[in-house]
Amino acid sequence: MEATLVIFSGGQDSTTCLLQAIAERGAENIHTVTFAYGQRHKLEVELAEGLAKELGVASHKTIAVDWYKDITHNALMDTVTPIGRTAGATCPNTFVDGRNALFLLTAAIYAKGLGIHDLTIGVSEADYSGYPDCREAFVKSMEQTLRLAMDWPFRVLAPLQHLTKAQEWALADRLGRLDFVRTRTLTCYEGIPGDGCGTCPACKLRAAGLAEYLGSRGRA
Ligand code: ZN
Repeated sequence: MEATLVIFSGGQDSTTCLLQAIAERGAENIHTVTFAYGQRHKLEVELAEGLAKELGVASHKTIAVDWYKDITHNALMDTVTPIGRTAGATCPNTFVDGRNALFLLTAAIYAKGLGIHDLTIGVSEADYSGYPDCREAFVKSMEQTLRLAMDWPFRVLAPLQHLTKAQEWALADRLGRLDFVRTRTLTCYEGIPGDGCGTCPACKLRAAGLAEYLGSRGRA
């Protein structure tokens, strides 16, 4: 079975990707990488490391990109800016310029060293707030760029690309991991795992998707 390197933050999306990859390929073929880039909550990095270990992946690596916050500003990395949407902006101020490009490039360099072709990333354009690097066009373009950059047959897999949050919960449920994703992952901007603070935009999006999925399951 071909190995894959999963870009893993410990949030709902990347955890669902990781669980699906483990189900399809076996944990022994799964490697994870977590980026420590000056998140508001260092807990996120520790949580990701703990989950990766618990799920028995073949290897886990945390890569520090702690210089990132020195060259760009956004509400996800600095500790004073309130999270929200600046008037007239096309996406919320939690958008981190270049993040998925940086993560994919760095992960690809690491993957090639491990002899791995596949990179798995939990981006989705369905429910997101206009983040440009969650669009399929970006993912396809990045795959081509990485192949050209390193002369290596990378594949960038984004299995959540066209899933809504409700469909993501359905996927976790099909994997038998709904409760795991619900209680163990961290999506909340306030750094509270599981159902989180309940009031930040990330918690609201997550809860709305879960309610929609549970509602549809109840009707089925
Ligand atoms: Zn929250």
